[in-house]
Amino acid sequence: MNMNAIQHLLTQIHHLQTWLFPNACAFCNKLNDSGIFCSKCFGKVTFIEAPFCNKCGKLFTGGIPHNSLCSACINNERVFDTARALFVYDTYVRQLIVNIKQTGNRNLISKCCSIIVAKYGVLFQNIDAIIPVPSHWSRIFIRGFNPSDVIALELSQLIGIPVTRKLKRIFHTKFQHKMSKLERIKNVQNAFRWQGRQLKNVLLVDDVFTTGATIEECARTLRNSGVKKILCVTFASTEAK
Ligand SMILES: [Zn+2]
Ligand SMILES: [Zn+2]
Repeated sequence: MNMNAIQHLLTQIHHLQTWLFPNACAFCNKLNDSGIFCSKCFGKVTFIEAPFCNKCGKLFTGGIPHNSLCSACINNERVFDTARALFVYDTYVRQLIVNIKQTGNRNLISKCCSIIVAKYGVLFQNIDAIIPVPSHWSRIFIRGFNPSDVIALELSQLIGIPVTRKLKRIFHTKFQHKMSKLERIKNVQNAFRWQGRQLKNVLLVDDVFTTGATIEECARTLRNSGVKKILCVTFASTEAK
């Protein structure tokens, strides 16, 4: 099945889901009035609202540093220009991400993308292309899809900017959730290659931002290909340190 056929099929499933469950809670699937989350789930999710790090978008939970940058952004030069996320990546949101990764839940992805556009749409001006953080082909073969790709497609439909899949993962990398930041950096080093024409401003999309090792490596590859502005958007990010 080619990519267009898969996209068509996913869209059909999405339409069927919205038709069957127009107001299903995005987390627990219980029917509710507001259409996105039921009141029980709404209270459990932490949306990232100011104050957050000006650079990486991680939520400040203690005091606000006077330059409004988290320690990770002060200590190392970030390769991307700006990153923003919707939720704090905690136990509850981890379930949501697992749900997205396992099922590609189009209804949930679509609702989260609408909120992202409402919150951060002002940053999307002059973007040439949306680039999903790529999965290795073997992982796509097992899972059937790349979650970042589905998020990118959904954002593309909302803001009318095309998705480009010319950022390739050239080798398989190990799962990172138990690795330290340094191990993660080593794990993804030189893992990506840009195979498209030169772009000026891009929107890089992934599901989660934790240490940022993967996003930084993608950003480095894009920067080396001549990209000027790199904005990153994820569904969730860990709190600022
Ligand atoms: Zn719920
Ligand atoms: Zn930061």
